[in-house]
Amino acid sequence: MQIFVNREVGVLPLQQARTRQGRSKRGLFSLTTKIYDAIVVGTGAGGGTAMKVLCEAGLKVCAINSGPRTDPAEDYRQHRQVYDLKFRGYGNPLRLEGKAHQEPYSVEESEYSEGRDLFEHDIAYSTAPGTDWYWKRCKATGGKANFWGRSSARFGDIDFKAADLDGIGENWPVDYAEISPWFSKAERYMGVASTIQNRPSNPDGEYLPPMPWRCIDYIIQKGAERIGVPYLPDRCAQLTVDHNNHPACHYCGNCSRGCDVGSFFSPTWFTIPDAEATKNLTLLTDALVRNVITDENGLARGVAYIDRGTRQEVEVYAKVVVLAASCVETAHIMLNSKSRHWPTGIANSNGQLGRNLCDHLYGSPGYGYLPKLLGQPATPDNIADSTVAWMPRWQNLKNPHEEKFIRGYSVYMGGGCGEFPGYYGQIEGFGSQFKRDIKRYYPTGIGALIQAPSLPSPTNYVDIDPDKEDIFGIPQLRFHFQWGQNELLMWEHSKRLMTDLFKAMGGEMWGMDDEPNRPGTSLHETGVCRFGNDSKTSVTNKWAQTHDVPNLYICDASIFPSPTDKTTTMPIIAFTMRTCDHMLNNFKQDIHKRA
Ligand SMILES: Cc1cc2nc3c(=O)[nH]c(=O)nc-3n(C[C@H](O)[C@H](O)[C@H](O)COP(=O)(O)OP(=O)(O)OC[C@H]3O[C@@H](n4cnc5c(N)ncnc54)[C@H](O)[C@@H]3O)c2cc1C
Ligand code: SF4
Repeated sequence: MQIFVNREVGVLPLQQARTRQGRSKRGLFSLTTKIYDAIVVGTGAGGGTAMKVLCEAGLKVCAINSGPRTDPAEDYRQHRQVYDLKFRGYGNPLRLEGKAHQEPYSVEESEYSEGRDLFEHDIAYSTAPGTDWYWKRCKATGGKANFWGRSSARFGDIDFKAADLDGIGENWPVDYAEISPWFSKAERYMGVASTIQNRPSNPDGEYLPPMPWRCIDYIIQKGAERIGVPYLPDRCAQLTVDHNNHPACHYCGNCSRGCDVGSFFSPTWFTIPDAEATKNLTLLTDALVRNVITDENGLARGVAYIDRGTRQEVEVYAKVVVLAASCVETAHIMLNSKSRHWPTGIANSNGQLGRNLCDHLYGSPGYGYLPKLLGQPATPDNIADSTVAWMPRWQNLKNPHEEKFIRGYSVYMGGGCGEFPGYYGQIEGFGSQFKRDIKRYYPTGIGALIQAPSLPSPTNYVDIDPDKEDIFGIPQLRFHFQWGQNELLMWEHSKRLMTDLFKAMGGEMWGMDDEPNRPGTSLHETGVCRFGNDSKTSVTNKWAQTHDVPNLYICDASIFPSPTDKTTTMPIIAFTMRTCDHMLNNFKQDIHKRA
């Protein structure tokens, strides 16, 4: 017997259900008469912020998350030693047996955080010939923002008006003066540590005291000065002092395994508890949204999701739908939302949905060691496992065509007295000599990571694979993506830069990556639902409200028309706050009706 599940009313046999509501277009039945003010799909950086703001304004919100609820006590195993873990931190090699998507995710997925099935391995995806996209997904509540690197710089007009400067792509439909108060609001809420730097491509914000530097940072800074490159504190969403009832960081250096005390911004410690405190939130977990459902006018009426436990399809209804499933998954849901009004996907009358996929090119343009630190004792400078200082963009600041490439990139430097000697793979050898070498070089190793924005290109996009469905029968997303010449020129530039820097700081280079990392590695993809003033060339308006469907909003990086040299998460939060403010005004003015 087919049954329909809704957590508001429990489970009824199909025959009984039919008498309550009637037949839905997929032959399934909703037993609930409940209509929410808003549905928010996804509880990560964007969705978590949306549900907090909307719930605090008094809206009744149903948040839907594809995986289980994150429980820090159970899921974060950060303070264990490698020798306390059965598989020495690498995880059970058989854990993905039988899963549809076999590939493990580097950095964030390990024996420290694999917990109770936090990462998405049930849903496979396709890549077009020649594309090698690495799509890493955290399906638990809080999403990837449970484990993120916390770099949180503001974007500036040099980013928003880049198309005016160099003629490529589209300008953003906002300028710095308009978004700056929202950046402040996001920073004040999250807690971002940094300094005032007065740099043209990196507007200053409202900061907590900066993170202390590692010994290596002072040496790198001296070298960088000699070659005319800035080396400055990054903007880091890590609490150097107590902030908004969250405790200051205790510098255990395990952030990418999840923080056990909530000393950096994450939805798990910040937005989700805030939204729940209002009692206006209904949070559905293990609920994979497949499409937006529409009414007879083509407006959003709710969403349909697959209950992972029962594999049944369920419908939930609301006056407004917010998609925040993390960039490409938002486009996936929209492309799969086909109806009489929207034959190629909801809000896709201009064919822009899924187009303009961009990413950060990542890779190490140089790694090696600092001989002057050989024999030095280790100091407790393992203050974060990610960004402390960086080289913010210094290219093409005065003239967009100073270099052979347009726009610009930034560089992060890693090293210091981390618990694990990350440079082990850069030293040759084996056995006891290998171990001695690892000890000898501790703590001298350093490495660089380039962050170079790709440009929008008509050949980089996502669509629906016409031949493949996932294990729940949902048509799969397909990636089409290649690095472009501009970002490859930046990559070459950064390799020359590292040769100069190592020389200038008295370092020895062991090498550099042969090729950039696979597209997708950075987790900063943008563009597939870009916002803009022209409804012919963009999916949403400047408020992230789709041009075609005014009660459908988007709260993730899919709206950003182009990446910058900066990361995306703090801007996702700032733009989400602004979008929700606009939506609340629409509720106030009765443009959106309350349920
Ligand atoms: C190791 C690491 C380091 C990083 N470093 C940085 C950094 O330094 N700075 C920075 O800005 N960013 C960084 N990032 C990226 C950052 O995590 C993302 O930019 C941010 O989390 C994106 O927010 P989001 O809400 O769009 O997506 P997520 O936080 O991933 O949340 C997406 C949510 O949507 C849910 N979802 C997905 N599909 C569906 C569906 N079909 N139905 C229902 N729910 C769904 C997921 O369960 C999840 O809760 C890093 C990420 C990682 C993992
Ligand atoms: S270093 Fe600080 S923010 Fe990172 S996990 Fe440890 S206590 Fe949390």
